[in-house]
Amino acid sequence: MKFTDFNLKETIQAAITEAGFTEPSPVQKDAIPLILEGHDIIAQAQTGTGKTAAFGLPVMSMMKADGSVEGLVIVPTRELAMQVSDELFRFGKLSGIKTATVYGGTAYGQQLERIKQASIVIATPGRLQDLLMSGKVKMNPKFVILDEADEMLDMGFLDEIKNIFTFLPKERQTLMFSATMPNAIRKLAEEILNDPKTVSITKAEKTNTKITQLYYVVQEKERDDALVRLIDYKNPEKCIIFCRMKKEVDRLVAHMTAQGFKVSGLHGDMEQKQREVTIRAFKGGGIDIFIATDVAARGLDVNDVTHVFNYHIPFDSESYVHRIGRTGRGGKTGEAITLVTPNELKTIKRIEKDVGTTMTTQVIPTRMEVQNNRSDALIAKIAETKVTENAINLVKTLQHDLDIVTIAHLLASLVQEENFVKGKDNIGLGLEEIELLIQRAMNSRSGGSGDRIGSRNRSGGGGGYRGNKPRTGGGGSDRHGRNGRSSGGRDSRNGGQGSRG
Ligand code: ADP
Ligand code: MG
Repeated sequence: MKFTDFNLKETIQAAITEAGFTEPSPVQKDAIPLILEGHDIIAQAQTGTGKTAAFGLPVMSMMKADGSVEGLVIVPTRELAMQVSDELFRFGKLSGIKTATVYGGTAYGQQLERIKQASIVIATPGRLQDLLMSGKVKMNPKFVILDEADEMLDMGFLDEIKNIFTFLPKERQTLMFSATMPNAIRKLAEEILNDPKTVSITKAEKTNTKITQLYYVVQEKERDDALVRLIDYKNPEKCIIFCRMKKEVDRLVAHMTAQGFKVSGLHGDMEQKQREVTIRAFKGGGIDIFIATDVAARGLDVNDVTHVFNYHIPFDSESYVHRIGRTGRGGKTGEAITLVTPNELKTIKRIEKDVGTTMTTQVIPTRMEVQNNRSDALIAKIAETKVTENAINLVKTLQHDLDIVTIAHLLASLVQEENFVKGKDNIGLGLEEIELLIQRAMNSRSGGSGDRIGSRNRSGGGGGYRGNKPRTGGGGSDRHGRNGRSSGGRDSRNGGQGSRG
């Protein structure tokens, strides 16, 4: 299926081509035709699945662009308002559609000016309610969109939203988007939608299949070591580490900084300015690692996040889905890594069931494995390096006293000096232990899901899981692909390691 199958206005189609979108995402495939037919919709799809274009393209295609406000998009946060506005502007500009962004914390003046010229207003609930109630703004939008509805309710905006709708025309097309569908959302939908069509991306599609989901079983006191080892091993370009509490964020920021990583914390108490500066640094690459709470990371849209780490497993499946959705965005692959203690294995099983996904368990790499990984990278780098004049002279000088092999060994030792991997050799549990624990956890629960165990990738014999081979492929597996060398000194825990790469 192509975007041209939708019968969108020519200028919108041109903008899609310009954006480089080739194939509509599942939610776009389902939602766009229904919206063009004039239906209200309630759509459930995970973050990063292209919901903005799913409503933006058809709505803008139906707009007159006559300078009046034809569309209103309500979003939970200021950052989301800016993101959605950027994305809509990109698609609407060839059609003469202007956007205005409305959020709290700044002066009214400029926002009001922009609303006067805009075809679409993107607003957060608080400020929008202020503007409507004070009479500063009157609008008759034909299209009203609630984006990330579940997050708005989580943030306590239900009253504002209901109030806002009392100011909007009865004759309108209303579209509601949400990553999850708790009861409160369904109830709100009944109130504001008119005979809506449901767009629900099936379970398999709902979680982004481009995200490889892994978990590692460790003892409580091993979390820090496990985290550092995994980051050493995976060498992520950009990652987010999720914690449950602000306190934990602060502690981990200090710990990881001491380990030499470029990290920054993000939590709800930060001032808006500081928050923006931090996010910009992360986007720009000045910071490689973000350590955040769920609340702080709401709606955070940073491209190229290669890994999401759950330092603690989140309490509920919905946060899990939100968190891992920070990676694998815009069709890219990503890896989501969760640390759990033996006691938390039942939470893993529950989330797998709720979300309809499977997570693969692995063993934390040994020091040797990290070192081998780095050696591989170093070998590749050496192969790419150009010989310089200085280097030739240096070797000539060294050759007065040393033979060429000794020189090579000395230089290799020198470049490897920083290659020391800290921590104890084996961190966390081995695959056989994990398997036993999973079985025990499943048996202690009442019936039903016991069959899941049998369907996991058990390799017949005593070998247990082929743990280190992510089944879902993709993600880091090629970037970090190993060359199949034996990692030496590793015991039987080391499942399918050698077959990788
Ligand atoms: P959501 O609102 O579901 O979290 P977004 O609308 O923010 O997702 O889209 C996530 C990213 O994917 C954005 O960078 C967007 O430009 C990109 N994107 C959306 N649809 C497509 C598509 N059909 N092809 C390629 N990229 C897309
Ligand atoms: Mg969105």
